[in-house]
Amino acid sequence: MSDDAALLAERIRACRICAERFRATATGHEPRPVAWFRPGARILIAGQAPGARVHASGVPFDDASGARLRDWLALEREAFYDTARVAIVPMAFCFPGYDARGADLPPPPICRATWHDAVMAALPGIRLRVLVGAHAQHYHLGARAPLTQRVAEWRSHAPEIFPLPHPSWRSTGWLKRNPWFEAEVLPALRARVKEVLTDD
Ligand code: SF4
Repeated sequence: MSDDAALLAERIRACRICAERFRATATGHEPRPVAWFRPGARILIAGQAPGARVHASGVPFDDASGARLRDWLALEREAFYDTARVAIVPMAFCFPGYDARGADLPPPPICRATWHDAVMAALPGIRLRVLVGAHAQHYHLGARAPLTQRVAEWRSHAPEIFPLPHPSWRSTGWLKRNPWFEAEVLPALRARVKEVLTDD
């Protein structure tokens, strides 16, 4: 890891900007930033925010969503977690917590505003951006659009960018309603992942 990127990841891991905000959630937790990148990465996984399980383990996508995402990318765990090739940069580096009804809170916008431009500048070798969910798509693609429309328009972003639905169990109904995603988008995505990882 270059000095700049190492320092940046270290500063993110030490960040406690949202401490008060997280203490006020139903989970009442402390920040635990999960910064998983280094400058040689070729693929960017731009996600939403760690969930409770990732907050506990400190390993991104270390859950059922991660298993589905790895299947979508046709990557084994070892390749997926190789920071020399794959950077995992969620729109918030910490678990945002739950609200009083037990629902997931959104990623705090201050995380994106504080860190993301610097992180992207530290990753000059990215050749494929995988945008997981609406928050990441808004940051990387600009103006808001419905998620289904974003994903359906994948050909206008490929092969550098692939907008995806979130791979959580909540997307299971969406996947059934939109069979073109598995039939058309995933083969193109897998081919691009393979190409980016094997090209010199
Ligand atoms: S979510 Fe981002 S800004 Fe907030 S404490 Fe974690 S790293 Fe810092």
